[in-house]
Amino acid sequence: STPAAIAAGLSAGARRGLLMKGGVVLETLGRITAVAFDKTGTLTAGKPVVTDIVAVGRPVRDVLSLAAALEKGSSHPLALAILDRAKTDKAPVPPAFDANAVPGEGVEGKVGGEPVFLGSPQAAGRRVSLGDEQGAAIAALNAEGKTVSVLLARNGVAGYIAMRDEARPDACDALAAMKADGIRAVMLTGDNRTTAEAVAAGLGIEARAELLPQDKQRIVRELQSEGFKVAKVGDGINDAPALAAADIGIAMGGGTDVALETADAAVLHGRVRDVPDMIALSKATMGNIR
Ligand code: ADP
Ligand code: MG
Repeated sequence: STPAAIAAGLSAGARRGLLMKGGVVLETLGRITAVAFDKTGTLTAGKPVVTDIVAVGRPVRDVLSLAAALEKGSSHPLALAILDRAKTDKAPVPPAFDANAVPGEGVEGKVGGEPVFLGSPQAAGRRVSLGDEQGAAIAALNAEGKTVSVLLARNGVAGYIAMRDEARPDACDALAAMKADGIRAVMLTGDNRTTAEAVAAGLGIEARAELLPQDKQRIVRELQSEGFKVAKVGDGINDAPALAAADIGIAMGGGTDVALETADAAVLHGRVRDVPDMIALSKATMGNIR
């Protein structure tokens, strides 16, 4: 019977790490026509590595220490990269006070009584003026496919840290398979345009960059108003509004608690392939019923 087929579909998915919250989710997945993917931690492995540390008016080691102090409580992939590097370089990590994530922008707090911010060049540029020379240096790093986070301290720019995050090994093939099935795939990212386009070109996906969480939500709604049935896939950090707006929100591999609460489905093994596989499972299950 119908409920039995749905139950079988749900448990077949669960065995492969494809979790769907109930029959309505399973059924809706088969009608998805567009998938919006977050970049960091979703299309990329989410394990960025620090490649460059540039200091402005203070030692490089202090830039790393201040950044690591801010990131200590953060689960953002970029935070883990910075903490890793601080450990490798044996840079001291002083305590930070009132450290808070600013969704889609970075992290801010106080270290040694000094107010500090670490975040995207766009977010930093909204707080202080970055200057042509620094803008050009950051753009050159972006053109190498690197993400740059800028450290601001009391006197303005204190330095910046560049990181590179490789695409998930199966991303390219999984996106090609979706395209072959007539499903539109879009990459949404808070990262800067140059870096985003470098990554997107390698994956063969269209990219929308420099987005805040509410922009990602707006783009999901735009796709829906164009008639698409939209799934949004994200690691959950900064993604809750867009996940909630989508017809189906999918949390990617080991997502944060907030993502799992907001999401309709989750893929536990961190493969991009799991997304078209879940859609195919839905189609097969619903096909059985009809
Ligand atoms: P994505 O959309 O790729 O997941 P996010 O929205 O999480 O990116 O972040 C957007 C940008 O904000 C990052 O590229 C980075 O420059 C900056 N940023 C966000 N959170 C942090 C953080 N914890 N540490 C450093 N930079 C951050
Ligand atoms: Mg993110």
